[in-house]
Amino acid sequence: MHTESPILQVENLHTHFITKAGIVKAVDGVDFDIKPGETLGIVGESGSGKSMTAMSIMGLIPSPPGKIVEGEIRFKGENLLTKTKKQMRNIRGKEISMVFQDPMTSLNPVFTIEKQLIETILAHESFSKNQARSRALELLHLVGIPDPKKRLKNYPHEFSGGMRQRVMIAIALACNPSVLIADEPTTALDVTIQAQILELFKKMQNELNMAIIMITHDLGVVAEVCDRVMVMYAGKPVEYTETNHLFDQGKHPYTLGLMNSIPTINKQKKKLEAIDGVPPDLRSLPKGCSFAPRCKHVMEACLHIDPTLTEVNDHHFVRCLLYEETNSEKVVSP
Ligand code: ADP
Ligand code: MG
Repeated sequence: MHTESPILQVENLHTHFITKAGIVKAVDGVDFDIKPGETLGIVGESGSGKSMTAMSIMGLIPSPPGKIVEGEIRFKGENLLTKTKKQMRNIRGKEISMVFQDPMTSLNPVFTIEKQLIETILAHESFSKNQARSRALELLHLVGIPDPKKRLKNYPHEFSGGMRQRVMIAIALACNPSVLIADEPTTALDVTIQAQILELFKKMQNELNMAIIMITHDLGVVAEVCDRVMVMYAGKPVEYTETNHLFDQGKHPYTLGLMNSIPTINKQKKKLEAIDGVPPDLRSLPKGCSFAPRCKHVMEACLHIDPTLTEVNDHHFVRCLLYEETNSEKVVSP
């Protein structure tokens, strides 16, 4: 389906926060790529490094205390980490844009939606004010906001949560980006509105052939919209494959734990607490596998050996000693 070459490639990305209490390895060796028209899910519990992966791509890691210490982020073949601040400002919002985790803090409460949309458009396109105004109208219409002409004059607080999220999506789409990053775009919304927003993403993608990175803690969202998925734990990818494959043949004990926490028959929302224990402190990760303290299948070797991401099947990668041949030999015959 997606035969083109990747538009975005993230390679061996490491983003750290240097704090008084120690170094937080928020992103600790992340690799993935994405093609035009494709949706990649990044899934994991809170604190697993999803947002910091996104912020690294956007060039928005607060520094200090944050720093990208290793890796490459190639957009259309060019390494974004070598770009100047000015170059990144031009790319951000135009080529790569993001719907942030908290729509209320990313919209400015004192300006109308029209002003905020026009500002984004004029920052990147050489439009007249009037052209920008009609583009703003077109965008509100595109994201399914009823009576867009009137709604343009409203302030953020005059919109419901779902409508505000549509406004955020309109702003992100303002300049037809080739990559759209959506960070938990439906987390704050109720189930019906969530379904509508996910539909909207699919529709926009079909129309604009964007690559979408969908960040979520909810495998239900992944099942709904993603072609491929990367499961993250403690700053690292632990499983990476096609979505269908993950649901049929997911292997990592953490992935399986996440799956068990998906509600099945009734649509009642259960959270990921179904996995015992809490995510580790990223300043002092356990030796060996970070997931070992919570893992049902933990073996002696897991407490000493940090597994590598291994291809267990075509395009299916797992970071677990159970699936790492050389190490499982060590496990059975130490
Ligand atoms: P997620 O989006 O998966 O919930 P994040 O990517 O936001 O997680 O965070 C990953 C880790 O980075 C967390 O442990 C968080 O505490 C840490 N982190 C994020 N921002 C900062 C910061 N400004 N200073 C120190 N640590 C930070
Ligand atoms: Mg986050």
